[in-house]
Amino acid sequence: MKPSVPDYILSLKPYVPGKPIEELEREYGLVNVVKLASNENPLGPSPMAVRAIQRAVGHLNRYPDGGCYELIQCIAKKFSVSAESIVIGNGSDDIIAMLATALLRPGDEVILAKPSFLFYEIAAVSAGAKPVWVPLKSFAADLEGMLKKMSSRTRMVFLTHPHNPTGAVLSKVEFDNFISAMPPEVVIVLDEAYIEFVRNPQGLSCLGYMDSENMIVGMRTFSKAYGLAGLRIGYGLMAPFLADILNRVRQPFNVNALAQAAAIAALADEDFLKKTIELIHRELDFMYASLDRLGIDYLRSEANFFLIDVGCSADEVFNELLKQGIIVRSMSSYGYKSFIRVNIGIREENVRFLNALGSIIR
Ligand code: PMP
Repeated sequence: MKPSVPDYILSLKPYVPGKPIEELEREYGLVNVVKLASNENPLGPSPMAVRAIQRAVGHLNRYPDGGCYELIQCIAKKFSVSAESIVIGNGSDDIIAMLATALLRPGDEVILAKPSFLFYEIAAVSAGAKPVWVPLKSFAADLEGMLKKMSSRTRMVFLTHPHNPTGAVLSKVEFDNFISAMPPEVVIVLDEAYIEFVRNPQGLSCLGYMDSENMIVGMRTFSKAYGLAGLRIGYGLMAPFLADILNRVRQPFNVNALAQAAAIAALADEDFLKKTIELIHRELDFMYASLDRLGIDYLRSEANFFLIDVGCSADEVFNELLKQGIIVRSMSSYGYKSFIRVNIGIREENVRFLNALGSIIR
């Protein structure tokens, strides 16, 4: 007998990640595959994090610290926030899932930009809530449009700064206007997965809103600038009473011991972070200049990825790139039929991508 499954769960489609390198190598018999599809760090993990993992391996017979005490102290110190406002997740995906489990119930509405990171929708719908979509305006979140979609059932709003997949940032002024028009009982999630790459560090940051009268939840991750995507670790920053609520639904040992050790070391590895950010800025500029020469349109981005308008079917270009051993993302399922999303690699990877793209589009 099959279990009875709620219709809203059946309405979901599984999340499709960027194609793994090994899968492409298997399918096409290729070697030296370049993956520019999941916004990962092209320099590898932080070397200090690798050493910390090596030291921690001998203790894997023990459960990890379920409360992530040491990591929380390090984050609190580094960003001058209170330890009580930090919740650590198995990736920031885990924080999104906890927010949905703890705060959403069937019938609630969640305002989402279209397109945006796909897991917001999956988490909201899993809790029986209804996504209310607001199309991007000029490739950035339409905050006025979002306000117009508010109803008495609105419980949460997801904003991504910089936005995935467009790389657009929000200004502090527009965000301030937005939250001042927002009822205080609505949770405003500010997902800062790519914040480290923003070139103007004086701009908007969730750190300035920890004492806000609005319920603002900042989210950050070790998967991108810190190079630890494979370990799965991220965190949420929020008012202590909200952190307390999330901790009630958190799995007892949601963050593994190696991830905790690595994240503590990665936070201290300022050299690696600096090197990563410099590489992303330099190589983004290199990509822009190269595409200008090729006469290919693109969108400038404040993240470690950007959108390219290939001027024809993105799915076809995606498939042709795969044949040449290069994995990017087609944005056609996001509604951008002629756009691909490409993250920044090291110079050699970027050149291989540009040469392949040039040959395909010609
Ligand atoms: N938010 C955004 C906007 C993302 O792009 C991603 C990863 N692609 C995440 C959250 C999740 O990151 P992680 O779970 O690896 O911390």
